[in-house]
Amino acid sequence: CLEPSRRSRKENADLSRIDGHTLVAQSLRRLGVTHVYCVAGTPIRETFSKCAELGIRPIGVRNQHAGVLMAIAQNYVSGRIAAVALFSAGPAVTNAATGILVAWDNCWPLVLLGGRRPLNMRGMGSFQDLDASVLFQSITKWSAVVEKTSQIPRCVEQAFQIAISGRPGPVYLDLPEDVLTATSHPSVDPANVTLNIRPLDENGIDAAAELLLRAQRPAMIIGKGVRWSEPYAELRRLADEFEIPFITSPMGRGYLPDDHPRCFNNARSLLQHKADVVLLLGARLDWTFRFGSQIARDAQIIQIDIHEPEIGVNRAPTIGIVGDVKLVMQQLLARMANKFSDAPQKNLLPWHTVLEAERESKQRKLDTQMNSAAAPMSPHSLFKEIKDFMPRDAICILDGNISMAAGQQVLPAHLPASRFTAGSNGCMGVGVPFAVGAKIAQPQRMVIAVCGDMGFALSAMDMETAVRHKIPIIVVVVNNEGNSGAILQKTLFPSFEERITMFQPDIHYENIMRAFGGHAEHVDRPEQLRPALERAVASGKAACINVNVDPFAPYPTE
Ligand code: ADP
Repeated sequence: CLEPSRRSRKENADLSRIDGHTLVAQSLRRLGVTHVYCVAGTPIRETFSKCAELGIRPIGVRNQHAGVLMAIAQNYVSGRIAAVALFSAGPAVTNAATGILVAWDNCWPLVLLGGRRPLNMRGMGSFQDLDASVLFQSITKWSAVVEKTSQIPRCVEQAFQIAISGRPGPVYLDLPEDVLTATSHPSVDPANVTLNIRPLDENGIDAAAELLLRAQRPAMIIGKGVRWSEPYAELRRLADEFEIPFITSPMGRGYLPDDHPRCFNNARSLLQHKADVVLLLGARLDWTFRFGSQIARDAQIIQIDIHEPEIGVNRAPTIGIVGDVKLVMQQLLARMANKFSDAPQKNLLPWHTVLEAERESKQRKLDTQMNSAAAPMSPHSLFKEIKDFMPRDAICILDGNISMAAGQQVLPAHLPASRFTAGSNGCMGVGVPFAVGAKIAQPQRMVIAVCGDMGFALSAMDMETAVRHKIPIIVVVVNNEGNSGAILQKTLFPSFEERITMFQPDIHYENIMRAFGGHAEHVDRPEQLRPALERAVASGKAACINVNVDPFAPYPTE
């Protein structure tokens, strides 16, 4: 090996060339990535190991779909792209498709890197040959093939910018084998992304301020789109200073705490029926809000969304403002503060009183359900025990159908990005992987996934990932013996002895965790759950608590 000074210029130039694997890893590190979720395989094995060499923590997952879900949960809790997913080729990449769809449907940023056979062997029938970039066009913001090694840094940077800008979403980059093995100089040309930042609609904001100040029954709907620019202080001002009652979407909870006096998630139908002005913040009036049909016909809607085509979907707003929710809210609050003294004095007390009465009546009904001593235990009794046990800053993932709905009614959320559900497309099986990603993002907080037995089974194998990587999540299985417990079976197959949508009775799911070397518990009665949770935390390991609940418990209604 020659001293640098005695090498020829060409030799020195050659030595400064870097292979594609290293360029990918360097680019990710430069962009602040701390974790890479991967199933190692050709041609990205070396990329995975280069990431580790450069200090990006490698997490080896058991299923690509779960790996993507872990990355997006970590990003959601971190509020930035802290993690990426990296998979080999062909089926390894298509396995990730549902995870990409979850990112797309929830408007969450994701950078997924997929391997591909050498470009110069296209069409030759290579092992796992697939043009995945074409496949993912319709469920990504950008799906592209990196054609040259020298393009890697720029393409990776571009992928990040696209994923996080505007309405966040997934980006897919195909990394061909020959591009990864060839070498190039590590120069980074700036990424070629034009961010179309339009000026804020001053008149719209002015009119919105007037409308809100004059409203007799104002209300806010808060969605998970507020995650990315964090307008938390602004939300507080609207709720505290201007006393505007609010409801949230399922994952919009916690941006203002559930125990805020203006939180009326328990009176959501009434609030929507009666409000005269509704401010929609980072939420879509999609199926989650029954396409806006619950909002009174003559209510005036102010919609703020960063994605212009979203304005007016399902309900035409009185005022639609395109822009970042924090920037718009800052302007809105400034105007409301200015105009406040000129606005007609109004008394919001009657509006609050109506809502409070409804909230209390709903809470009484819920208390009865939670405190029932019936055996087998109901999902509500199970969630009451978890609620009483959970610290205020716990991150909770609800994965399932009947169990998820009961959990949404009982478990509070107090902090931003602390509540996950099956999300905008109701994807089952998110419990375990979301918990892993969330716990990696916030290791000091309790992360608890409460999964129906259907959802649990879809990702149960990745509890091994949690045990192996020492990620002490708590997984509670709401074991009601089937897909919607016994209810679907009795409805669809009333005369069948054979179990079809019901599963085997008395499955000890906790034994799966035991087999992986984690902590395992089985619970039959509500009073056993808290001690089991305490032992799970004390074990310091990933834990699974299998809880038998009533298979005939119905789907909870509001
Ligand atoms: P939820 O399920 O909580 O109702 P959705 O995912 O359906 O939330 O909708 C989130 C909305 O937030 C999307 O329409 C998205 O365009 C919007 N959004 C995302 N980021 C921002 C932002 N920074 N400012 C304003 N709107 C945003």
